[in-house]
Order: sequence, then structure tokens, then C-alpha cells
Amino acid sequence: MSIINGLEKVKNSIQEVSEEFVNKSQDMIQISKINLEIASYENEVKEIYESIGIRVFENYKQNTPVNKEFGNECERIRQIKKNIKGKRKEILKIKRKKICKNCGNEIGKDVKFCNFCGSKQ
Ligand SMILES: [Zn+2]
Repeated sequence: MSIINGLEKVKNSIQEVSEEFVNKSQDMIQISKINLEIASYENEVKEIYESIGIRVFENYKQNTPVNKEFGNECERIRQIKKNIKGKRKEILKIKRKKICKNCGNEIGKDVKFCNFCGSKQ
């Protein structure tokens, strides 16, 4: 192998490694962005919980029954939780992973058996 060929090979492998690095960085940026969206959803849920809590306490102070009053808030929480689930799925797709049906760990998208608990997927 000539020196020129050798250098060409080194150059190509450096190029491959740096392209992979760029792809991984872009994935990480996208994942961070989605995680921010999830954090914002979770914050909204906390605010709704807080507003429910305040109203329950106000009703309690006035001896008012509190059961059916919070339908809108509960529906919104249900919607937000669904959104969060969707966002978590987006992240798994970027990482080419899935969640083990048995133990809940992240595993490779195409594996047949979980590498944590061994259960069939
Ligand atoms: Zn498992």
C-alpha cells in the first residue's frame, strides 16, 4: 500500500467519524428540544394541580362539595399526558430504541430479546 493510499484511507475514516459525530449532535439537539417541550407540559400539569388544590381548599373552607367541578382540568391533564407520551416516543425514534414490554428499560428498536431482563419482544 502506498503512502498516498494510506493517507486517503485515514482521511476517509476521519470523515466518517466526523459525519457520525455531526449526526449524533443533531440528534442530541433534537432530543434536548423535545425534553424542553416535555418539561413545559409537566409544568402546565403542576399549575393545574395547584389551581385544583387551591379551589378544593377554598371549597373545603366553605363546606362546599367538590366532586364534579374539575372536569375541564382533568381533561386537560389527560390531554397533556398523552402529548408527553407522544414526545417520549419521538425521542425513542430518534435514538432508534423502544421500551421493553416487561421491564420498561430502553432497548434497541429491532432486538428480539431484552438485554436487561431477557424477555421476548
Ligand atoms: Zn426487559
